[in-house]
Amino acid sequence: MDKIAVLYDAGQAVLSTFDLDEVLQRILAIAHDYFHLRNVAILLLDQRSQELYVRSQIGWDEGQDKIRWSLGQGITGTAANKKRPVYSPDVSTDPHYICSAKSTRSELAIPLMVRDEMVGVLDCQSDRLNHFDPETIDLLTLFSTQASMALQNARLYSLEQQRARQLQAINAIAQQTTAVLDLEDLLGKVCGLIQDAFRVSHVSLLLREDHDLVLRAHHGSLTPRIPVGGRFAATSDPWVVVLADSRTSMESDLSSVPESAKFFTESASRLCIPLISFGQTLGVLALDSDKTDAFRDGDQQSLESVADICATAIQNAHYVERVKQLAYLDGLTGIFNRRFFELRIIEEIERARRYGSGMAVIMADIDQFKRLNDEFGHLLGDEVLRQVSSLFHQQLRKMDVVCRYGGEEFAILLAQVNAEEALGVAEKLKKAVAGWQFPGVPRTITISAGTAVLPEHGATRDDLVRAADTALYSAKQSGRNRVCLATLASGQTVGARN
Ligand code: GH3
Ligand code: MG
Ligand code: MG
Repeated sequence: MDKIAVLYDAGQAVLSTFDLDEVLQRILAIAHDYFHLRNVAILLLDQRSQELYVRSQIGWDEGQDKIRWSLGQGITGTAANKKRPVYSPDVSTDPHYICSAKSTRSELAIPLMVRDEMVGVLDCQSDRLNHFDPETIDLLTLFSTQASMALQNARLYSLEQQRARQLQAINAIAQQTTAVLDLEDLLGKVCGLIQDAFRVSHVSLLLREDHDLVLRAHHGSLTPRIPVGGRFAATSDPWVVVLADSRTSMESDLSSVPESAKFFTESASRLCIPLISFGQTLGVLALDSDKTDAFRDGDQQSLESVADICATAIQNAHYVERVKQLAYLDGLTGIFNRRFFELRIIEEIERARRYGSGMAVIMADIDQFKRLNDEFGHLLGDEVLRQVSSLFHQQLRKMDVVCRYGGEEFAILLAQVNAEEALGVAEKLKKAVAGWQFPGVPRTITISAGTAVLPEHGATRDDLVRAADTALYSAKQSGRNRVCLATLASGQTVGARN
């Protein structure tokens, strides 16, 4: 047997691929063939349970490779414990021996060392008594270092890959987040990217709202205990630490944690990272795993970088939402503006058509407003506009939409009403304004209003608005402080009230 050739082949096997299982199989095949062994195996140490399990084997009896050995148990466990090779020339007389293949007569177990740490065992069994002479033991011991090297390479490689994947994710998230300004869209995308890059069971994003944390998005394979939109008190565990101290919390074993404090039924470990932007904690990025002890310090650092990017992106999306909102709000009164009305009326018409429910438009205009301005000044005029807006708001249902259409004219959308009801609402608004004592105005202020209903007064946005406008004009013509219903398509006016 050419020793150099064996070692050379093993060396080549180690260098041939980064796939750990493939490398181990090649090393075992070489050992099996060169040393004429009955069976060979590489057992690895499970760090958590401190047990040895079979990672790769050739020639083992069916089912035997499912067994786990604690340190000190069997010949492999003894070698692992002593951190040096253990040889049993006749297993039938060895009290340590535990049978893993019926035909085994002699066994040699060599610990696999990475630096001074025992990471596993190379186990060699022969169906001949006293199969291993000192020279073979030396050679196999040298040979086992190739397996250790393969293990270390594979570890480094997978760490490297993990780091590369995480870097890629951080880049992708940074890119995505500058492009995505819609908050919901952003949160969903970020969860997906993180889950993919960090290979965890589930990723969730929770944002702060008042004294609660609201689950806004999640992505993964676990069973959620609360739906999106579900809330947790920010003062409960583990949030209180994450939010109050702005500190990452790593919980490696959730088995003793009450069900109510978990978001997912299968959660066994969890990492919660605060989302901090400009010194403000906006929420929490939570990673859950169905395995205990799933997170490492290295993950935490990468994830904290990700959380920083997310926090900035969330802050940006908040701003954009606010800006969008501002674009649809009237600066003077704070109610919606005409641009918003134009969009909403189309949506409301579609909804009414789909559900066969009615909808109406009221155009309301303050009477003699020019005179009011002339008499009391523009600033007071402005205040009257604000107060009329507020009166309208108070009188209407949540689902109705009040907009400042322009100047001292208002447009109101009423959902699910018929002509009679819409006219009733317009009446109510008219009375509310006429009955209101405006500070600084020693006389009554009134409005006139025109009401049009879908579909009798118009089937499209333009037709409905025109019909309501014409009805408003009629109300003005017939003396103001009135509401009028639009003219029917036949040209007949249904009602004018004083
Ligand atoms: P009518 O009863 O026919 O509606 O008469 P009116 O005077 O209310 O109507 P007109 O359209 O002649 O005048 C509207 C006035 O509203 C003119 C304009 O100066 C004033 N106006 C429009 N926007 C504002 C505003 O933002 N603030 C103030 N103070 N006045 C405004
Ligand atoms: Mg007016
Ligand atoms: Mg006007």
